[in-house]
Amino acid sequence: MLAVAAAITPRFLRSHLRDMSPMMGETTPAMSVELETQLQTAFAQILAVAVPVSFVVALGAAFFATRRLLTPIEAVRTNVRRLARGMYSARVGRPVEDELAALADDINQLAATLEHTERRRMRLLNDVSHELRTPLTTIEGYMEAILDDVIEPTPEIIATLLRESRRLKRLANDINVLSRAEEGTLDLDLREIDVESMLAGVLARLAPQFDDARVAVTIEEGPSASVVGDFDRLVQVFTNIIGNAISYTPSGESVTVSWETADDSVVVDVRDTGRGIDERDLGRIFERFNRVGPSNTAGTGVGLTIARSIARLHGGDVNASSEGVGRGSVFTVTLPISGPGRPITEASPQPS
Ligand code: ADP
Repeated sequence: MLAVAAAITPRFLRSHLRDMSPMMGETTPAMSVELETQLQTAFAQILAVAVPVSFVVALGAAFFATRRLLTPIEAVRTNVRRLARGMYSARVGRPVEDELAALADDINQLAATLEHTERRRMRLLNDVSHELRTPLTTIEGYMEAILDDVIEPTPEIIATLLRESRRLKRLANDINVLSRAEEGTLDLDLREIDVESMLAGVLARLAPQFDDARVAVTIEEGPSASVVGDFDRLVQVFTNIIGNAISYTPSGESVTVSWETADDSVVVDVRDTGRGIDERDLGRIFERFNRVGPSNTAGTGVGLTIARSIARLHGGDVNASSEGVGRGSVFTVTLPISGPGRPITEASPQPS
């Protein structure tokens, strides 16, 4: 400001004095020079006061503006640090500035997601530790009894121990898949899958199981259809559901697998004539470790939870219906159909 004023003031003053000369009458050059010098001195004095005053005022204004901006940023930082320490219930107040308010909203959204995931993880850990206790207690009980010579390690006892340890191993695998599927972090290797050949493959795999159980499993031919999905994961879904149908159907009864296409979906029905499910339990059986009635001893109690999570990750779903206890059940798997309008990348996760 000083440099600009020093550069242009003399020119302005001279031109101003020239304009004023008719009003001032006759002036000698010496008077003009004196006048100009006086005016310049007065102007310099004004600047000498104005510049420090405006400097102080600007400093004060900058200080207040910075404080106004820094206070909410500091609040945001404090809450981010709380989040980093695992205090996921912390929330940031909304500052008035639009950009900072948007930042606070994003951080609050992040905190809510972390809080939700953490709660889910804690519940899962609780459920898992509860589930682990039963087989471990059985194994421990038998081992102690054998060591104390209370029982002989007969082949039957060893078979029980083996069954329980296998159940633990299955549980460990299932929990791993379950937690990733529930959080939507299960990697899907997507490709085009023919529904008929996938179902035929699942039935071939389960053949020893339905032969052992003496349950007749038939597959009804449906329209040619394909879905976009992860082959191994979808096989896991159907193995679980058809495997359950075999387990919960008495020998001599039957299980039928059929499919049809509806709108943009392939709908696969797994129908059994087994023990059925009470209407009140239809929703509960999809919750992890929620078994109703006497359960399959080999089951881990998370088969349906995993099946539904995987189907939902594919943009589909699994639902159950039953006409009541003793009257069989139908498990319906819906998956988005693939076609020219549906590129492979379109199969996207659905919120659970
Ligand atoms: P599990 O390992 O106990 O079979 P799932 O998650 O696969 O666990 O199934 C949950 C519960 O749903 C089972 O314990 C059983 O009570 C019930 N269920 C599943 N499929 C059937 C079926 N086809 N008929 C009757 N009940 C079933």
